[in-house]
Order: sequence, then structure tokens, then C-alpha cells
Amino acid sequence: MFADGIIGHLRPKELLGKALAHDRIASAYLFCGPEGVGKLLLARAFLKTCCCDHRNGCGECGNCRKLEHGGHPDLVFLDGGEGPIKIEEVRLIQKHLRFHPFEAPRKVCLINNAEAMTTAAQSAFLKTLEEPRDNTLFILVSAQPDALLPTIRSRCQTLNFGPLPRRELVRQLMEQRGLDEPEARILAAVANGSMSKALDLNGEFFRDGRRQCLEEVAALPSPEENVLPHFQLSRRWTDQKENRQARLEALQFFFRDLLLLLSGRPESDLINADLIDLLRSRAQGETVDSVLAKLAALRETEWALEANANFQLTADLLLMQLSETASSR
Ligand SMILES: [Zn+2]
Repeated sequence: MFADGIIGHLRPKELLGKALAHDRIASAYLFCGPEGVGKLLLARAFLKTCCCDHRNGCGECGNCRKLEHGGHPDLVFLDGGEGPIKIEEVRLIQKHLRFHPFEAPRKVCLINNAEAMTTAAQSAFLKTLEEPRDNTLFILVSAQPDALLPTIRSRCQTLNFGPLPRRELVRQLMEQRGLDEPEARILAAVANGSMSKALDLNGEFFRDGRRQCLEEVAALPSPEENVLPHFQLSRRWTDQKENRQARLEALQFFFRDLLLLLSGRPESDLINADLIDLLRSRAQGETVDSVLAKLAALRETEWALEANANFQLTADLLLMQLSETASSR
């Protein structure tokens, strides 16, 4: 099958597979969905199959090889991830499309991060879409399709991509990256279904730093007893600028796990299953309400930091809120 080896996205794969099988390939597709879930990967596999001498994306024929390694005379590839796509670039596409295909059965135009087209570029591109030719295939890929002109969207067949299933992401991280299961589980959870985000995350932090961060927070006394340790820890976090976001995410998943544990969910549902002892001992002093208050405090901290609040003061407050015991509230 054309999408062998690409994980998830059964519905888009099925629709494209049928289009190939019945030779009813639309002239324009819009692949939309979250970042890093494999939209571009599937777009490339599809256009390779459309252009392959053997119609199966063999990987061996001239068309397949040139599409894989670059330099195919019938492919135009633009990527808005590197900056805005300007009208001049769309004009180049238009020039390119005036010629008949040289080697492939059709001309192919692939635009990744298509929302990066400027308004002028989109208007020009719309004109190109309005004059479809039999032997042209456009694929637009976007995580923000709302930023495209509605008239562009309506001229494309839209395929919606969702986040990758977490257990699939875990399996891929273990197989492709050689991670062990606890690490793969936490990265997959934090990445929220995006393979590229999972690969971008600081694996070292989630492997080693996460445990240390969670143990340090769990060891804080209640603020009524003593607030000095809170201020000391927040000072250290302020000095270590890296991993600030990762710490917050690790804490969110820790308290989420605690909530699951208090609600009687099985250990297999937990993200931090490798920290079960820490979770169990922490669960002693907590109730569902006290954990919900801590999750709310974490969410408010994120908002405050997004609004450029002072990091140290925000962290002081967060650490005090996280160490309040259920009985002191
Ligand atoms: Zn081929």
C-alpha cells in the first residue's frame, strides 16, 4: 500500500488509497491537522505513488528516486516553515505549470505550511487553482487552514488529520529511537500526539530531570511550616532557564496521574508509571479536590508566564500552592 510505514490517519489513507485505485485523483488537496503528525509524510508518499512508473511508489523508478532525493523536474516544493511565501514564489509555480510534465505523468506542486502564503500570494495562487489542468496535482499542507482564503479551501479536497494515538507514538519512539517504555510514555503524553514534538522534547530532562523535579516538589513542607525551601527551589529554577516549560509539563502530568490514582484508575493508565512509589506516597496527603486545585494553579502559572509575569515570583507562588496539604486548605 502507498502509505506503508506511516502511522495513524486511517481515514485520509483510505480516501487517498481509493483515489489511487480508481484513478480519480483530485486536482487539489488540503491536508490539515496538528503539527508533526505526518501530514507532509503522507503527502509525499501519495504524490510519489501518483508519479511512479509502476503506480505503487516503488522507490526504484526514476520518478520515485528523484521525488525522494530532490531534483525532480515536475515537482515544485515550497515550505512556509522557513518564512512567508511571497507572490513571486507563486508566480514561479505559475510559470512552471505552463510546461507539460517532463518525466512524471503530472506536474506536482506541494506547499508545506501553506498558511504562510501572504494575502497577495494566496490571491495569485487562487487563480492557479481556478484553472485546473488534467495533469496537475496540488497538495497544500497546513496546521492552520483557517489562515487560508475560504475560496482556496473550497477548491481543495480537504483531508483532516488528528493527533497520533498515544500508544502508537509510544511504540514508534521505542522502535525508532530505542527509548525505554517509561521515557517513551512521558514524551508521547507531553507531545500530545505529535511525533515531531516528541522528538524535539528534551529526552534527557524527561528521563532524569523529571524524577528529580517531582521529588523536590514532593519533598517541600507545607507553607505554614516553612516557606524557605520553596523560595530556594524557585530561585534555582529561576537561575536554570532551560527546561522551564518541561518542568511545568512534568508537574501537570504528575498531578494528573495523582488524580487518576485517587479516582481508583489502574496503574497502566498512569503516564509516570515509573514513579509509582512517589505517586503513592504523595497520594496519602491529597484528596481529589486538593489535586484539582493544584492542576488549576499549574494552569494559572502557564497563563501568567505567557503574559510575561516575573518568573521567580510566579514560581514562589506555584510551589506554595503545590505543597499545601489537603487539610490546610
Ligand atoms: Zn516508482
